[in-house]
Amino acid sequence: MSEINRSPIVTILGHVDHGKTTLLDFIRKSSVAAKEHGGITQHIGAYQIPHNSNLITFIDTPGHAAFEKMRSRGAKVADIAILVVAVDDGIMPQTEEAIKHIKGAKVPIIVAVNKVDLPGVNTKVQLDKIKKQLSDREIMPEEYGGDVPVVPLSAKTGEGVDKLLEMILLVAEMNELKGDPALPAAGVVIESNLDKFKGPVASILIRNGTLKKGDQITIGGVKSKVRGMFDSNGKSVDSAGPSVPVEVLGLEAVPQVGAVLGELAEVKEAEAIQSLVDRLKQGDAKSLKVVIKADKQGSLEAIEASLDKFNVERKIVTVISSGTGDIGEENIKLAATVGAIVIGFNVKISSSAQKLAENEHVLIRNYNIIYELLEDVEEVVNTLLEVGQLEEVLGKANIIAEFPHGKNEKIAGCRMIEGIIAKGQKIRVVREGQKIGETKLKSLKKVKEEVNKVEKGNDCGMLFDPPVDFAIGDTVESFRVI
Ligand code: GDP
Repeated sequence: MSEINRSPIVTILGHVDHGKTTLLDFIRKSSVAAKEHGGITQHIGAYQIPHNSNLITFIDTPGHAAFEKMRSRGAKVADIAILVVAVDDGIMPQTEEAIKHIKGAKVPIIVAVNKVDLPGVNTKVQLDKIKKQLSDREIMPEEYGGDVPVVPLSAKTGEGVDKLLEMILLVAEMNELKGDPALPAAGVVIESNLDKFKGPVASILIRNGTLKKGDQITIGGVKSKVRGMFDSNGKSVDSAGPSVPVEVLGLEAVPQVGAVLGELAEVKEAEAIQSLVDRLKQGDAKSLKVVIKADKQGSLEAIEASLDKFNVERKIVTVISSGTGDIGEENIKLAATVGAIVIGFNVKISSSAQKLAENEHVLIRNYNIIYELLEDVEEVVNTLLEVGQLEEVLGKANIIAEFPHGKNEKIAGCRMIEGIIAKGQKIRVVREGQKIGETKLKSLKKVKEEVNKVEKGNDCGMLFDPPVDFAIGDTVESFRVI
């Protein structure tokens, strides 16, 4: 393995007319690379620019439809999302939609408050208003104690754009984006079309590995050979490494946007995850079901104990069946019936089981290191979280006292034991593992002072709306369903 830091892949979302295209154009035109090429650039769906000796990759098809299409097949494309909000308008309906998509994809977010050059707008007042609007939607600006940078800028004059680029690199650094150029290429189709002269053409964003001219590849299950590649400056290139967008020629068919480029095994795996997700969406299952096969009883016990770490908050991983020995057809049949994945540890997979799994879109993962097994399960759990099949607990508090309030309301005196509870979040009250009410916060007080959020270690008073008939000893949880 020779992992390197790869440059961040950034996508821009926001309400129509808030300046997404202008921002993308400004960044591209002011980049050195574009100038070197006389400003003549080719549209291939993404471009890379240098900034302070780092590169940043921008996906230049803004809009939610493209964003959703790209991740509709389980593919992860962007590492960072820029939410553009015009300073005069603030949050608009499509901004709300964008927030939903970004939360669903679980990518870090940077808010760009655009058009600060507009005359007659009180930027400071508007900025404060927008930050409040964001925090009401659980996008917590840094000033509110959250981790979302808010950068005021003008895509027209360029003021503040450098700051945005810096912020992108900072967020990228914190997220430790890695790639291994020595691996075969894995990537996602971001644009595709049938060109009159070139035939089927696809723009592919390489997420890991290197794509080389002459490579035999599989895109969305169709085998092809890379006959030619062009970068975003229209220059012919022989290879493209992690985070590089390229236009690829020589494909057998026009792939769909969002199709995955990779080894056949990876494609099958992406399909299997997709099918698992579809099944979970249809049913009311809210947990990841697994069938485990291991070489020894000792390994089985160790795996089951480790998987239990996902079940601290509540049941997220359910073991349907576990046993020793190789993975056979009967394990696949069971997994297919209940919508489970099959996890193997130091075992073999019979070829008939492999075939059956491919036909039934059952995901099999085989390991010989428990750590890797757990990492992968975590990834699948995260995929399920992304599509809203699971929920995430954001904060927990114990109710340690109650105080009457007004005529027939009561305030819960709480001690925060985990995470953050904030106004605007969904709240539930839990007694012995059972939910007794779902509500929101009408008031949140630290000592006498009304606050927006409380965190681990704080004592606070909560007033619920609608009221919940809580008792001392109950737990308050804030959570989100993505
Ligand atoms: P999109 O729909 O989000 O891609 O928005 P556009 O980039 O097409 O911009 C919409 C309008 O706002 C255009 O008329 C732009 O010229 C204008 N615009 C974009 N950015 C700025 C800015 O920073 N300042 C000003 N004054 N106008 C801007």
